[in-house]
Amino acid sequence: MSQPTAGVPTEAEWAAAVSAITRLPADGRVLLICHVNPDGDALGSMLGFGLGLRRLGVRQIQATFPGRPEVPEPLQAMPGQELLVPATAADPDPDLVICFDVAAVSRLGDLADRLDRAGTAIVLDHHASNTRFGGIHLVDPDAAATSVVVEKLLVRLGVPLDAGIAECLYVALATDTGSFRFDMTTPAVHEMAARLLATGIRPGEISRRIFDTRPFGAVRLYGDVLGRTRLEPLAAGGLGLVWTYATLDDLARHGQRPYTLEPLIDSVRCTAEADVSCVLKQVAEGEWAVSMRSKGATDVSRVAVALGGGGHRLAAGFTGYGSASEVVEAIRAGLTDATPSGSTSADQQDRE
Ligand code: AMP
Ligand code: MN
Ligand code: MN
Repeated sequence: MSQPTAGVPTEAEWAAAVSAITRLPADGRVLLICHVNPDGDALGSMLGFGLGLRRLGVRQIQATFPGRPEVPEPLQAMPGQELLVPATAADPDPDLVICFDVAAVSRLGDLADRLDRAGTAIVLDHHASNTRFGGIHLVDPDAAATSVVVEKLLVRLGVPLDAGIAECLYVALATDTGSFRFDMTTPAVHEMAARLLATGIRPGEISRRIFDTRPFGAVRLYGDVLGRTRLEPLAAGGLGLVWTYATLDDLARHGQRPYTLEPLIDSVRCTAEADVSCVLKQVAEGEWAVSMRSKGATDVSRVAVALGGGGHRLAAGFTGYGSASEVVEAIRAGLTDATPSGSTSADQQDRE
C-alpha cells in the first residue's frame, strides 16, 4: 500500500471542510463550480461530489461552470447532469461554494465573485500551481486527479460510493491519468479505481463513450490540423518542440464544436522527436487556448505560468494573444528559460 502524503491537505483543513458541510442548515444553498471549458476531471469531480452531497441530505445544490453552458458531448451521459445550471442562473449568494479542479481565480470567469459573496468557499484541487484562493484549501499536488481529493472528502463525510458517484469519479480519474498510462498512476490510483469498479460500473462502455467516439467531421478536422503540424528539433534547448494550431474557421468548415479539439494534443504529443508539444486552439480573433505537454524533461507549467496560465509540470496551458506565430514565439522564448541547464542542441545531436 502506498502511504498517503503526510499533511497535504492538513488535518485542520479536512476538519474545516467537513465542518463547513455538516453544519449547513437543512435549507442551506450550495454552489459547486468547476473550471471553464470543463474536462472529465472538472465535471466528474463536481458532479460526483454533488451526488454525494445529495446522499447526505443537502437539497439545494447547483453545479455550474463559467462561459457557455455546454457540456462536451462525450461527457453528457455522466450521472448528475440534473444538478447543472448555466452560470447566468447560478445562485448569487450561496451559503457555501465549492470549487473543483480550479487552479486560479481566472479559471472561474464571471463566477469568481461568488468566492467573496458566499459564507464559506472550499477549494478541491490537485494543481501544484494552485494560487490558494478561497477560504478552505483541500489541494493535493500529489493527487492524480481532483476526484482523488473528492473521494477522500466523501469518506470523511461518511458518504458511501454508489454507481452514479463512482462513474463520475472514474471518468475524472481516467481522464487525468490518460487512462491509467501516466506516471502518476500509483498503486493508490489503481486501488481507488478498484473501489469505483466494485460498484458495478462498466469501464469498457465508459471509455468508449468518453475517449473513443467522435463524429466523422472531427476525424476530417484532425486530418487538416495534424497535416500542418511543425517539428522544431532545436527548440526547447534542443529537446524539440512540436506544435500545430486550429482556427475557428477549421471548426466551422467541419461543423465541429471547440471541445472536439481537446484530445488533439494527444495526437501531437506522441511525436518521438520532441519533448514538448503544443496545440493552439483559436477562441476569438487574436486569442488562443494553448495546451502544452512534456514527456518529462521540461517543466511546461513554468512556461504556462510565466505566460499567465497554469497547470502541472508535464501538462499545462495558458491563453495566448496575437497571431499563432506570435504565440509560438512566446512559447519558444519561455522554453529556453524552462529547459534544464545542460540540455543543449548539442545533446540533441548526440542522441540522433
Ligand atoms: P489542457 O491542455 O487544457 O488539458 O490543460 C492542461 C493543464 O493546464 C490543466 O491542468 C489545466 O488546468 C491547466 N490549464 C490549461 N489552460 C489554463 C489556463 N488558461 N490557465 C491556467 N491553467 C490552465
Ligand atoms: Mn481540468
Ligand atoms: Mn484535474
